[in-house]
Amino acid sequence: MNNYMSRKKMARIITVASGKGGTGKTTISANLGVALAQFGRDVIILDADIEMANLELILGMEGRELTLHEVLSGKCDIHDVIYQGPSGVKVVPAGIKLETLKDADPERLTQALSELLTLTEILLIDAPAGLGKDALAAISAAEEIILVVNPDVSSLSDALKTKVVAQKLGCKILGAIVNRVENTQAEITAEEISAILEIPVIAVIPEDRNIKIASIYGDPLVLKFPNSPASIAIKRLASTILGERIVEPAERASILKKLVKGLLRRK
Ligand code: ADP
Ligand code: MG
Repeated sequence: MNNYMSRKKMARIITVASGKGGTGKTTISANLGVALAQFGRDVIILDADIEMANLELILGMEGRELTLHEVLSGKCDIHDVIYQGPSGVKVVPAGIKLETLKDADPERLTQALSELLTLTEILLIDAPAGLGKDALAAISAAEEIILVVNPDVSSLSDALKTKVVAQKLGCKILGAIVNRVENTQAEITAEEISAILEIPVIAVIPEDRNIKIASIYGDPLVLKFPNSPASIAIKRLASTILGERIVEPAERASILKKLVKGLLRRK
């Protein structure tokens, strides 16, 4: 028996959501999952983005036949649909739209999901975009929400709508992630985004062309290019979520500088 299977602890459920599609939810879910696993955490990513299913592609683990759908129709067990990914992150493909899950045998669904929650520390849900029934199902399943926003007006206004709905559903909003930041004049800044959404910005992820290159290899960015700017931002996000702090080399240098300055002053 794996050690995670013997643990009977309820997981944190974190949904990665956004207003509109294409903001980077799946890219972030996949890489955040790997980064959290690298920190030694048990993580299961529930791939709920059925229409744009590419989580498995990013993680290089496509072609899994059994999904949550088969569990609910009684064809297999929940353990059969937990697939091992890179660095020990696990993925459960939903296989069907979340909104149709409620048509499944509710007892089976409850049993499958609650079992899933005893098998991991963190359940990350890669949500579909928007505020359709399917997205709402993913949002309402979450205790904690991360909103992925791009630094432009339309992404921000859609994120605002999602935030309002998530709050109405009683979810705790962990904060926003500003993704694909290029620091151009036309961009809305992280401070402005935080002020408008009235939530903290917990990560700023730069535009990073290595994301595309990594996806060609079928490797997640944080493994293929661990020192790439977006990788560093995602690893920092993972530590923020865990409430841990990693000291980056640049930060370490500035801490050292302050320390040295302080020592010199005392002379
Ligand atoms: P979503 O799941 O929100 O629809 P994806 O994660 O599929 O969005 O990302 C949409 C596209 O944007 C993908 O082609 C992805 O490679 C690209 N992308 C996401 N984040 C970044 C980034 N920080 N830098 C460059 N490209 C990115
Ligand atoms: Mg997606």
